[in-house]
Amino acid sequence: MSVIGIDYGNVECVIAQAKRGGIDIILNENSNRKNPAMVCVAGKQRYIGEAAVSMARTQYKNTATDVKRLIGRKYAAKDVQEEIAMYGFKCVELPNGLVGIVLNYNDTPTTFTCEQVVGMFLNKMQSIAAVANDGVNPAYCVLSCPGYFTDMQRRGMLNAAKIAGMNCLRLMNEHTAVALSYGIYKSLRNLFHETEPEHVMFIDIGHSGYTVSVVAFVKGKLQVKSVAYDRFLGGRNFDQVIAKDVAEKFQAKYKKNPLADAKSRIKLLGACEKAKKNLSPQGVNSTTLAVECLVDEIDYNAKLNLEEFETLIAPLLDRLEAPIVKALADAGITKDKLSCVEIVGGGVRVASVKRRLSDILGLDKEKPNMGLSTTLNADEAVARGCALQCAILSPLFKVKDFSIADIVNFPVRVSWEKSATDAAAGDDAGDNDDEATESNSAADGNSVLIFTRKDDFPKVKRITFRRAEEFTIDAAYDDSAIEYLPPSPFQSIGKFTVSGIPNGETDEVPRIRVQVKHDIHGLVEVSSSQMMVEVKEESKEEEAKEGEEGKEAEEKKEEAPKKKKFRKIELKVTPSVGGLSGVEVTKATEEELAMAQQDRVIEETANKRNELETFVYDLRNHLSEKYSDFVAPNDRDDIENKLNEMEDWLYSDEGFDSIKSVYQSKLDSLKQLSAPIDVRHVEHSERPVAVNELKAVI
Ligand code: ATP
Ligand code: MG
Repeated sequence: MSVIGIDYGNVECVIAQAKRGGIDIILNENSNRKNPAMVCVAGKQRYIGEAAVSMARTQYKNTATDVKRLIGRKYAAKDVQEEIAMYGFKCVELPNGLVGIVLNYNDTPTTFTCEQVVGMFLNKMQSIAAVANDGVNPAYCVLSCPGYFTDMQRRGMLNAAKIAGMNCLRLMNEHTAVALSYGIYKSLRNLFHETEPEHVMFIDIGHSGYTVSVVAFVKGKLQVKSVAYDRFLGGRNFDQVIAKDVAEKFQAKYKKNPLADAKSRIKLLGACEKAKKNLSPQGVNSTTLAVECLVDEIDYNAKLNLEEFETLIAPLLDRLEAPIVKALADAGITKDKLSCVEIVGGGVRVASVKRRLSDILGLDKEKPNMGLSTTLNADEAVARGCALQCAILSPLFKVKDFSIADIVNFPVRVSWEKSATDAAAGDDAGDNDDEATESNSAADGNSVLIFTRKDDFPKVKRITFRRAEEFTIDAAYDDSAIEYLPPSPFQSIGKFTVSGIPNGETDEVPRIRVQVKHDIHGLVEVSSSQMMVEVKEESKEEEAKEGEEGKEAEEKKEEAPKKKKFRKIELKVTPSVGGLSGVEVTKATEEELAMAQQDRVIEETANKRNELETFVYDLRNHLSEKYSDFVAPNDRDDIENKLNEMEDWLYSDEGFDSIKSVYQSKLDSLKQLSAPIDVRHVEHSERPVAVNELKAVI
């Protein structure tokens, strides 16, 4: 049974596995550590990850990429529309306003939800992990997502994991996973102070996003102090500015725009990415940017030197400063208080980026990496952190306690319809909850800002109402969150109806307590609700009913004699949240199983056809070589005729598109023909050895 962490990146996905001795990266079928985040369908088959790369060139209309940018987003959002315009595949608006992806599956245009496409990808990652574990799927996983993912995006990712049949223990913010990767070993080696925090800045520049976080470490604990983002700045922006420049030059010369057509655009962006990577290391001054048949058989071939590159990317480099300033301000520290600045992600490999970061942070540019720290593996830190978190959370591992406190990204407000009885509510109900809770009374209005950007999570807060009838609580991102939310967000998080309030339990209007949770995945929900019935001191009978809770309260009575005691009656909470419904997730899970099974059958069938084809060639060779002395001439002619017939059949329409059992039966029939010859051959070749062994015995 294995536990894994998955960094689901926009372009690359890394799978890490927790082992007794540490963390390993799981290699894919081509022994690579990174899996291209692509899903391609061609005919009846899906090609996912590494297998999709070669298909994507011809099947770009049926290759879904960058789905991480689309999941949980409104189709109509301006930035989503701009994204979609860049892709080779088609997107549509789903009835719920989310993005659907159209792929030609089974030769039929089929609309998949983003959850399904991410689910396909995760299922493939799961099977890669299974191959590394004797065919057994991982027991648990922790999956990464950007810290700026909203409730809707997070639900999308968790539903995708369910569709893939994975048991996801946490959807972990990428910056938190990186911090865990960095901190846990240092903490175990006692390199942090017990109480005096060490502040580290983490900078992650990925394919399409830029994240800066400030994290405080003390022994056994990490506390995210602040996170700031530019969700539209990543490695791909560098490719795009080069591509725009090439397109303008090409247009001027040939009157054709290579960015107008998806095929040319994908080719050009690929070449620009290559050129960027060539120019990234310190000291490289120029590279060649070449694309064959960029548009209508016209090739593009030109030099790109560092100076031109730096001019093109200058406006992007200017955007590096703002998130750093914001992260420091929100953490309430100055840059000189940072013990180091760790850089991760592919985008930080560009030397000019490092230079600019070093400038902004006032680091020593003469030092290695211009004063930036590279303790972590830039490509694997997120996955490793997720695997560590999975080991901590799973019952399969015993890991020394390490506490992880993340910070709320978007302020959350809960609201309700005001009742005349609210005014009487207070929050003097006794509490023996395990989870840290904070209280809010519903007395002062019809809404409360329940989670702010100063709160860490996971956390539970409670509100107390006076209600006799069922009522509904709305959770939504507060208007003050707008500046942090993506454009056109789903601002509403969900509605939670509290029902089942019994009559006759109390003479007064019932006191209802509601727990609102910012859970470990970063989701907000009304997690539970209770009716709090006051237990009068003189009522010995009632006290007896209280059980353990009552006993505890009794013990505390001496310290706080005035505290009232309550009996709790659990109430029903019915959530109504966005995204896929439970039924839709179940249906998608079944469909994923069926599609994966179809892939398996197609793969096994192709393998069987190959086996038959190889057998035909091998047997023909053997007949003229090693079997030549063991087959009668007539029999050989007969078998050769049969092999020719088989070869003709293999290359006929029927032979190309048959089922596994047909290939198997044809293979069996050939094996029957060759078996007696093989027996004679083996007997002959083994006879001298047998004779010698016999002689030795005699
Ligand atoms: P995201 O974090 O945005 O979801 P990701 O995790 O898949 O995406 P990374 O793998 O961290 O992204 O980074 C990918 C980006 O890094 C790409 O734009 C790629 O071109 C760029 N990149 C990778 N290697 C280099 C390099 N040697 N030089 C310059 N850029 C590089
Ligand atoms: Mg990343």
